Amino acid sequence: MKVVAAPRDLRTLVRDARSRREVIGLVPTMGYLHDGHASLIRRAAGECDLVVVSIFVNPLQFGAGEDFDSYPRDLDGDLAAAESAGADLVFAPDVSDVYPDEIKTTVHVGIVSEGLCGAHRPGHFDGVATVVAKLFNFVEPDRAYFGNKDAQQVAVIRRMTHDLNFPIEVVDCPTVREPDGLAMSSRNSYLSASEHTSALAIVGGLRDAATVVLAGERSSAAIEAAARTHLEAAAGVSPEYVELRDALTMEPVETIGEGRFVLAIAARVADRPGSGARLIDNFVFAVKGGKVSVDEGVLASAAGVEATSRE
Ligand code: AMP
Repeated sequence: MKVVAAPRDLRTLVRDARSRREVIGLVPTMGYLHDGHASLIRRAAGECDLVVVSIFVNPLQFGAGEDFDSYPRDLDGDLAAAESAGADLVFAPDVSDVYPDEIKTTVHVGIVSEGLCGAHRPGHFDGVATVVAKLFNFVEPDRAYFGNKDAQQVAVIRRMTHDLNFPIEVVDCPTVREPDGLAMSSRNSYLSASEHTSALAIVGGLRDAATVVLAGERSSAAIEAAARTHLEAAAGVSPEYVELRDALTMEPVETIGEGRFVLAIAARVADRPGSGARLIDNFVFAVKGGKVSVDEGVLASAAGVEATSRE
């Protein structure tokens, strides 16, 4: 596995691969890799000849007072994890490699980026879309892999790719969870053991929502209420939003019809002021011909939680 920091070196290696007609896959990350990231790299390795993993904590997507400085970083650990998952090339630039000058051009994806995390983290998705556009230009991949854990991010990138005609297939991958159901996240490292336990209310809320959807509930307000009730009963968890949206456009939905939907949650989990983390998670489901299919991970996690609590 090769490791480069300069976009020019990256381009040279990728162009060599393309001249050999290799299929190029890109997995953008902010590092501190866990098995969720590894699942994307493994999927890319199964479908592409050259797998490029970028590791870059992108300052443009962090707001003032957010955790850019304290975001966990471990390049050596990441290189080992990327290689064992099947990466061929790691692009680990410095901020000055990606932003040599003060940037004057950003990408704003209307509507899709404006609710949910976009409303609570102003400018966040402009930062994400802009850095992903830069990565698309640096790597020119055939396919790019993203996790559904960040469902709004996937929708933003899909729409940007469509609107700006990037000839790239955006592949979304299922959320990888801890055995107890908590969605894997680099930010889980901020949690104490008791905060980790409190955070399980997030997946518990998703599971309760999934249960009412499977029982036939079609009112968004009622589905959101099922999740919110679970979250509000948990100590140390403050929901930021609990919202049902169209999974492609991220627009609000009143009554579930046919299509693909996401119930998205953001919550702060903290034992005391200044500790803990802001976490996001979601549950995606589709309705086709009146038949509902749900994101199995959320339901499977119930088995994990019960198994854990029975021990
Ligand atoms: P991040 O390093 O948090 O920016 O994440 C990099 C990529 O990994 C994004 O496409 C995320 O959606 C994806 N990802 C993060 N956590 C998970 C997870 N638990 N399961 C699947 N994909 C994930």
